Amino acid sequence: MKIIMLGAPGAGKGTQAKMIAEKYSIPHVSTGDIFRANIKGQTHLGMEAKKYMDEGKLVPDELTVKILLDRVANEDCKDGYVLDGFPRTIPQAEVLTEALEKMGDKIDYAIDVAVPDENIVNRMSGRRACVNCGATYHIVHIPPKTENICDKCGSELILRDDDKPETVLNRLKIYHEQTQPLIDYYTEKGVLKTVDGTKDMKDVFADIVSILG
Ligand code: ADP
Ligand code: AMP
Repeated sequence: MKIIMLGAPGAGKGTQAKMIAEKYSIPHVSTGDIFRANIKGQTHLGMEAKKYMDEGKLVPDELTVKILLDRVANEDCKDGYVLDGFPRTIPQAEVLTEALEKMGDKIDYAIDVAVPDENIVNRMSGRRACVNCGATYHIVHIPPKTENICDKCGSELILRDDDKPETVLNRLKIYHEQTQPLIDYYTEKGVLKTVDGTKDMKDVFADIVSILG
């Protein structure tokens, strides 16, 4: 099963992708997580990606496509995966479609987690991410058991640099310009499913499970 999560930044793609990955035993592949791991490890890729991420811009397609194709070529992805944050542009989607077609394969579902813009700044300014394991919380909607401490590994939770309100507005603008056209792209391919992302996290997941079966 090959699944793409679509939706604005902060819509809940990562939250749902982690739950899908666990339930269906497929890897959760997040290009944002790959970039953040590279920034933490101070690799060349990380330093390059950081320049764009800090400003809320997209990392250029050449860099992003390569890391994604390398990642999904791994053995653990052979029975499927859930992509979170990729593709974010039409050229990225086209490269992915072509790479899959060469193997006689295709995306099974593109799930759009729909959340209106007015909810997004709240979602992102309240998001806290674990510095160690990447688990995400929301200070109001999905709080950790102990303030600022990750339930899963006990490490510190932080506000991502690119979740500050001024960057969020830029990310949202770029989403509408470059990523939203993917909704039409996957509708035409007959694989788009839309879920109401304003519902409670568990209800959104139940809607996704009823689509995936
Ligand atoms: P994305 O991966 O789309 O950028 P996240 O999954 O990280 O978004 O979610 C953004 C923020 O919203 C996080 O703080 C997360 O805990 C919170 N969140 C996710 N799903 C819901 C939901 N259904 N209701 C309320 N808050 C949510
Ligand atoms: P995310 O964790 O998905 O919110 O991504 C964080 C940031 O990483 C984005 O704002 C972009 O700067 C960068 N990024 C992640 N995925 C992509 C992608 N597919 N294309 C371009 N930039 C990306």
